[in-house]
Amino acid sequence: MSPERRAGAPLEEYRRRRDPSRTPEPVPATSRGGRSIPEHALSFVVQEHHARRFHHDFRLERDGVLVSWAVPRGVPERDDGRMRLAVHTEDHPLEYAAFEGEIPAGEYGAGTVTIFDHGSYETARFDDHEVKVTLHGERLHGAYVLVHTDGKNWLLKKMAASAEA
Ligand code: MN
Repeated sequence: MSPERRAGAPLEEYRRRRDPSRTPEPVPATSRGGRSIPEHALSFVVQEHHARRFHHDFRLERDGVLVSWAVPRGVPERDDGRMRLAVHTEDHPLEYAAFEGEIPAGEYGAGTVTIFDHGSYETARFDDHEVKVTLHGERLHGAYVLVHTDGKNWLLKKMAASAEA
């Protein structure tokens, strides 16, 4: 699965994993993504997910859905020179960007979700090999790059401020 391979029904996998009668998460009635609004700033969100294993979920609005990665060590606020594993997960509906709550035990992703940060972002590159964005959040600012390694695995890095010019 890659960020660019979302033809047809972009939220099919998301819906398949969730029963709206059992989870408080938003579950759209159809697998179609939302409609992208031209000329508006694209949004990002980072959610803290206290699941079986704590991780951040890093989500970028694109083509009417939230392209998503799970980041076990969290999205860094500062450049610490380290690459972190980011596992590509299924696209989420746009309304998920506002979701905070408790996914019940036994359901997919069971545990508490809170918003770590959100804001807008600009895209420098977005394809199957590399995603390079500049975040404008309250905690997260500046350039971040995701590099595809293999399968669902990507590496996430915060770029040094000097590289953001
Ligand atoms: Mn998660």
